[in-house]
Amino acid sequence: MAKKVTKIGVMTSGGDSPGMNACIRAVVRTGIYHKLEVFGITRGYSGLIDNDIHKMESRSVANIIQRGGTILKTARCKEFLTPEGRKKAYNNLKKLGIDGLVIIGGDGSFKGAQVFSNEFNIPCIGIPGTIDKDIAGTDFTIGFDTAVNTAIEAIDKIRDTADAHDRLFIVEVMGRDSGYIALHSGIGTGAEHILIPERKTDIEAIITSLQEKEKRKKLVNIVIVAEGDDYGGGTDLANLIKERIPNFDIRVAILGHIQRGGSPTSIDRLIASRMGYSAVECLIEGKTNLMVGIMNNKMHFTPLDKAVKAKQKISDEWLKIVKILAT
Ligand code: ADP
Repeated sequence: MAKKVTKIGVMTSGGDSPGMNACIRAVVRTGIYHKLEVFGITRGYSGLIDNDIHKMESRSVANIIQRGGTILKTARCKEFLTPEGRKKAYNNLKKLGIDGLVIIGGDGSFKGAQVFSNEFNIPCIGIPGTIDKDIAGTDFTIGFDTAVNTAIEAIDKIRDTADAHDRLFIVEVMGRDSGYIALHSGIGTGAEHILIPERKTDIEAIITSLQEKEKRKKLVNIVIVAEGDDYGGGTDLANLIKERIPNFDIRVAILGHIQRGGSPTSIDRLIASRMGYSAVECLIEGKTNLMVGIMNNKMHFTPLDKAVKAKQKISDEWLKIVKILAT
């Protein structure tokens, strides 16, 4: 039987996402409810190695559910990729008697958790905190809904000015490997074209469609491009289209880091609270190396290695919807 946990650590790691604070709050308060001691680890794996670890109380997480960012800070940590770095991290945990970890982060952070857990037999539970939504085993990741809503609000404003001047706007959204923000915000704003890394971009089809629209005087067009598209980002795409259709008045807007910030939406606060609660329950039940997700509105647990390897698949039907609705 697994040893009962008594002291747990919580950290945010890798890319930040809005809603991480709501999740930290849930972990801390659920832990305290179950009479566990809860420790906050600052700056992800870096804090673990540098012993930047502090006891948290219920009041430590007051007034944060509505705040973007993460009170625990986050970081990428090269030293944790080395066995020596991980040994230091383990020694710090051992000194404090921490016997379970909750890691809120993306697939990189889960890889780290898995390696660490296998080396030192320390129970680790992952919670998907990423605006990219590119993790298998969950319908939601913390921060995605907020990022999409931020993008939608910005694109709505861009459409107002595009409409006033009959302009073609290319809007670049975040997503180096993932087209989910582009797809959801594009459908939500009625974009004419959506370019994502998961599909080969048919540039000729886009040019033909824009030329056809020009003929029938549809000059206001919004093209959403994920930053990792095979034609590059917004600027590259604009240069390419300008060459082929010089008549079009083209502008580029790169939404950038605003997509990572801001107050989390109700969905992100809710899933962050449910996942944080559930992660602590998992540790108490002796589970390890799992990612807590939500599928079909139920908690769903995926072995960390599966969550890391398999990505969510973009549905062809959604892309068909884009085509049909944007005529
Ligand atoms: P994210 O969690 O947002 O995907 P990263 O890919 O940058 O972000 O991963 C966060 C951190 O997780 C890395 O900086 C590193 O410290 C740790 N990590 C990632 N992959 C591994 C690995 N294979 N072994 C050990 N640690 C890892």
